[in-house]
Amino acid sequence: MDEQRIVHGDSPLRFFVPSRTVGGETYLVDLAGPVCQCRWFQTSVAPSLRRGEKPRKMCYHVLAAREEFTDWAIKAFAQQEKNTHAQTK
Ligand SMILES: [Zn+2]
Repeated sequence: MDEQRIVHGDSPLRFFVPSRTVGGETYLVDLAGPVCQCRWFQTSVAPSLRRGEKPRKMCYHVLAAREEFTDWAIKAFAQQEKNTHAQTK
């Protein structure tokens, strides 16, 4: 079986993150919320956020999506900087 990978959604802030425990399950994560479709997020993280508290433990999918976003953003900004320097020369 192929290792499941994080897939970018229709916005740079949205990702489909495969579940580590439920085979074949994939959750849509929106980092703008943050929002995740998994059970842990719905039952533990979301209620904390609604109360304005810091969640005890953020769900794995949001953390994984954040890392994916960071990699994407660093690449994008690095490329932009390269282009800017190329233009000013
Ligand atoms: Zn989750």
